[in-house]
Amino acid sequence: MEKANFEMKMSTVLANAVNEPGKIMAAYNAFYGYSFGNQLLAFMQCIARDIPLGPIATYKAWSEKGRQVTKGQKAISLCMPVSCKVKDTDKKTGEEKEKGFTRFVFRNRWFVLAQTEGPEMEMPKVPAWDEATALAALKIERVSFEHPNGNVQGYATTERKVAVNPLAQLPLKTLFHELGHIMLGHTDVTAHDFGELPRDIKEVEAESVALLCLAALNLPGQEYCRGYIQSWLKGQEIPEKSAQKIMHAADVILKAGRGDLNKDGAA
Ligand SMILES: [Zn+2]
Repeated sequence: MEKANFEMKMSTVLANAVNEPGKIMAAYNAFYGYSFGNQLLAFMQCIARDIPLGPIATYKAWSEKGRQVTKGQKAISLCMPVSCKVKDTDKKTGEEKEKGFTRFVFRNRWFVLAQTEGPEMEMPKVPAWDEATALAALKIERVSFEHPNGNVQGYATTERKVAVNPLAQLPLKTLFHELGHIMLGHTDVTAHDFGELPRDIKEVEAESVALLCLAALNLPGQEYCRGYIQSWLKGQEIPEKSAQKIMHAADVILKAGRGDLNKDGAA
């Protein structure tokens, strides 16, 4: 297998995307069935190779749709999770146990519509994002705003409840930010590191989730998000671990709103 030239550093992918939000929207619209990381990877490869954006599928999946990959076309690389198992010896008891973990590997397996031939195909329409569908799938409840400070735009509670100030300047941005806090685990009192993450990191993470969601759906408030993120980052880079969490949380929130959260098949 040919080795992919793309390094999967989410912080770099995220930084590029944040600086050029138009990319996020284009990548989301073309490849919304895939994870954010893979959407942006597919996007970058298409641009680099001058391939028009369009639906992607494996060789086999195209055949099943009645289309053939054009001779000489090279596949697009995406990152896939692979479940692995290792034998682990318990240091205290000496007992051998199987431990499972997930590894990410690149696979050259996908072709864009423009790399295939066959009968005309109807372009899939990106399903709209629906708040009620998202909240139900994420098991998050939206409650009425009861914060004594009217300047607060919104908040998330440890009981998976979110509230948005009825006078919030950008209500949807605030909703994505608060959903972000919950999906990033900031409000999870059962997490082993609950309360340890500094406030600046939490705010950067939640606002980055909001930015990715707004950018993908082409909604207003992105400029504001960027300013807010920069003000908390104070010139620092977004840590790699945070970048991975951000992309995953945004993925899940978008998927949930499309009604795709529990469907299989998306990488
Ligand atoms: Zn916040």
